[in-house]
Order: sequence, then C-alpha cells, then structure tokens
Amino acid sequence: MIPVENIKGNEINIVYSNNFDEIKNERFQYQRDWAEFNIYTDYFPWNFEYGLFEYTLKINTDDVVIAPNVSKENVLKSTKPTFDMPFLISSQATKRTAENGKIHIYSHQVSDSIITDVQKKSQKYYNYFEKTYGTTDTDELVIVVSDSKRSVSYARPNFISLNFDQKFKKTHIKVLAHEIAHLWWLKAELSTWEDWLNESFAEYSSLVMYRRDYGKEAMDAYNKRFGDWIQKMEAPPVWGIKKNHERSNAVVTYKGSFHLLDLEEKIGEPQTEKLLNQMHNRQIKTTAVFLDLLSELNGQEISNWFELKLKQ
Ligand SMILES: [Zn+2]
Repeated sequence: MIPVENIKGNEINIVYSNNFDEIKNERFQYQRDWAEFNIYTDYFPWNFEYGLFEYTLKINTDDVVIAPNVSKENVLKSTKPTFDMPFLISSQATKRTAENGKIHIYSHQVSDSIITDVQKKSQKYYNYFEKTYGTTDTDELVIVVSDSKRSVSYARPNFISLNFDQKFKKTHIKVLAHEIAHLWWLKAELSTWEDWLNESFAEYSSLVMYRRDYGKEAMDAYNKRFGDWIQKMEAPPVWGIKKNHERSNAVVTYKGSFHLLDLEEKIGEPQTEKLLNQMHNRQIKTTAVFLDLLSELNGQEISNWFELKLKQ
C-alpha cells in the first residue's frame, strides 16, 4: 500500500497488472462468462484512508461491459466521489429494461420468472420511494442478478448487484428494496458511525416495503431473527460505534433500523415519511442535523428520546 501522506493533494498514476487467478476473495471468483469486479476483489490498489476519488476507466474487451454510466467505447466514469469502481464483463448476459425505462436488469443463468419478479418489484419500489422521499439524482439504474452461490449484495451509485444461492426468496426481494433505497440513502460519511444514516434508513425503507408486500406479521417475523441476534450479542450503541468494531455492520444496519421502527410507532407512519422526505430533500448527512430536523418536525421531547435510544 502507498502511504496516504504520499497522495494527499497530489495526483498519482499507478500502473499495475493483476492476474485473475490471484483474486483472493472466494465469493467473487473469476468466471469466464460472468466476471464481476469491485472493491471486494481488490482489483485496484486502494485503502479507505485515501478518501473518496473520481475515476475514468477504459475496459478493453469484446464482451459486454455491464456498469453504471458505461459509454459505447466501454469507458466508465464516476458521477460522484466514490470508493469503488464496480463493473462486470460477460459474454452471456441477458438484458431487460423495466417499463419506466430507467432500470436495466442484467442476468446470467437466472430464470425468467425471477427476472420478471425483480423487474416488477424494482420498478414498484423505485416509484414508491420517489413518491415518498422525492426525486433522486439517479435517473438510470443498473441491476445485475446472478445465482452466484453467495449472499453478498451491494449498492453503488446507479448500480446494484443482487446475488442469491439457488433459491430466490422473499428475503432477496427485501435485499433488492434495501439496495434500491440506497439511491436515496447514501449521503452520510461511510467511514464513520454516521453511516447508520445510510444503512439504517435503507433497511427501514426496505422493511416498510416488506410490510406492504407481505404484511406486518411477516415483517415482525423477519425482524425477530435480527432482534434476537442483536440482543444475544449485546450490541453496543449506534452512537459513535467505530467502523472497525466487529459488530459495526449489524449495529449501523439493524439496530438503527429498529430504532427507526420504534420512532415510527411513536410518531406514526405519515410523520415518519415526512421526516424522511425532508431528510432527503435537505441532503442531511449527520446525526446532529437529523436530530434538529426531528425536533423541528416532532418536538424537542421526541428528539431527545431518540438521541437517548441511539446512545443505548
Ligand atoms: Zn446497505
């Protein structure tokens, strides 16, 4: 790794080669007809401490390049500072575009019925979030779906990778809703505990969709697993949790989303929707400003109560 002080304020060009067989992440093994590249495969040298960057990347291949904002010449360009350069190369991909023309779904060895399901649900969730939270600056979205024998799904600007292992279940649709919700909830700093404003809000939004699709009982049953898990591991508070804490992921995603559900129970769903709408439209990125907004819309007492929850 290049020491961070050698990079700050300057530009650096790095030339390197990487053998596909060297990809160490077992969950993202290279396959000839569907090769996925992202931060998990370590295909480019980078360290979180470097901060976010913008990129232009040219891919030389005769196969199809699947990525957000890819040009005809297979050039990828970031739309905002980021930490990842995700793309796929495939000789076998099938493409389907949702009715609104904004969502493009690429898949490989996935049944038609699953793709139709993903297509309908993604459009439905996108529309619901847009109506409720306001417009997102993402007007085109690429979703890749593969039966990759792994459970890691992830979202980047304009891009979602949805993965499952043989059986496509309701919970995968739930993951889809979570990742789509990140088109609205991805403004807070990723490298600090403020990331809960991304993860818990995306998780909460997806829970609302789950409840709408399958009912409150199904949502409670889904939550019970995580609730028990969080209780068993005596999860630390959301407030100030270090990103390198071994429970950080669970806390910023699930524990925080439970707090939001509790808040919803207290102030009602319409008020919560209004809160999230304002949160998005005012581009709120920190908990302090979020608590101010909560106080403005629902009173100081509620805001204090919620702050305490985050510290528990
Ligand atoms: Zn997430």
